[in-house]
Amino acid sequence: MNDESDFEAWHDWALDTQAIRAGHARTAEQEHGEPIFPTSSFVYGSAAEAARKFGGEEAGNIYSRFTNPTVRTFEKRLAAMEGGERCVATSSGMAAIMSTVLGLLEAGDEIVASRSLFGSTVSLFDKYFAKFGIVTHYVELSNLEAWEAAMTPRTKLLFAETPSNPLSEVVDIPALAEIAHRHDALLAIDNCFLTPALQRPLALGADLVIHSATKYLDGQGRALGGAVVGRDKELEALFGVVRTCGPCMSPFNAWVFLKGLETLSLRMRAHCDNALALARFLDAHPAVTKVHYSGLETHPQHRLAADQQRGFGGVLGFEVEGGRAAAWSVIDATRILSITGNLGDVKSTIGHPATTTHGRLSDEQKLAAGIAEGLVRVSVGLEDIEDIKGDLARGLDALMS
Ligand SMILES: *Cc1c(COP(=O)(O)O)cnc(C)c1O
Repeated sequence: MNDESDFEAWHDWALDTQAIRAGHARTAEQEHGEPIFPTSSFVYGSAAEAARKFGGEEAGNIYSRFTNPTVRTFEKRLAAMEGGERCVATSSGMAAIMSTVLGLLEAGDEIVASRSLFGSTVSLFDKYFAKFGIVTHYVELSNLEAWEAAMTPRTKLLFAETPSNPLSEVVDIPALAEIAHRHDALLAIDNCFLTPALQRPLALGADLVIHSATKYLDGQGRALGGAVVGRDKELEALFGVVRTCGPCMSPFNAWVFLKGLETLSLRMRAHCDNALALARFLDAHPAVTKVHYSGLETHPQHRLAADQQRGFGGVLGFEVEGGRAAAWSVIDATRILSITGNLGDVKSTIGHPATTTHGRLSDEQKLAAGIAEGLVRVSVGLEDIEDIKGDLARGLDALMS
């Protein structure tokens, strides 16, 4: 049997078993697959029952902004996979980050964050949270002294993505957690690039794991969603935000992500294999001046990445000589890879960070962040690796002639 009383058992299962089995409480219909509950509200047997449920005296479904069985199944499954007590699902990755800050910080509190963050996360911190008196200080991801130096008595949250996008820089999560906890702050890791299949930040000392389910958790570019995983205490505050402010996940999307989780490990292993093969191919190509992928032995943080991760992920960056024109010509010569901002898809995607994801940065900021004009980012998908190599070789070979 697999019902909610098996909660403790889920936490002892291996990740691949959790990904397929955890979280589903079978209904009276005895369904084998996880059902979708496309309903906005739930009914009560009596006025008294409604009163008890609204008053919180009795558990049960009320309204899908905060209690939907399909969403709950996704939350329980991801909580088990990340090794957290609780998960709250959200409408997008950005909603997950927004709910975390709204739930846990107040005006006057400060965030210390890695400089290498997803662009919208920086906008959220600087354009919106700053408006309400929450200030963010940015530091170089891998420089632990810089994190330490940015801490103040008002620091409540440390926020990082590791490995970074698109340069594949890594931070030592246990060391960062130690800094956070010594200052009574929380450490949140955006685990979008590796997923629990390749990295479990809570086991390494982080307090919160943040996901854009839009990426690898779905894995097939079909739906937007997000999630936060951690302890009951912090997640209860976050749940309050989602319940009241409404950035909730739709039951249909939750079902899509549940199906995505079932094949997550297999897909991540295949993404890693293809990315490493492509990194080696690019590293050996005479038109490529640099490859950024922590799976290469020459990457400055290869050892740290190998110790803290179970794989190096599916995203890499590479540089060509000739700046923007050369990078664009390699991108435009592809016929299989999609020129798009999305990543974590079975379809390989390619883009030019300096004019897209990092286009809002000034020239000095780009230089500081290592975003060169000749830099190209690839999210390596699951097409045949020889076809992916050939698609990039077309533009790279042309640069040599
Ligand atoms: C895409 C992404 C987000 C935002 O997620 P959405 O689902 O697009 O809102 C946050 N962090 C990282 C690292 C991302 O790649």
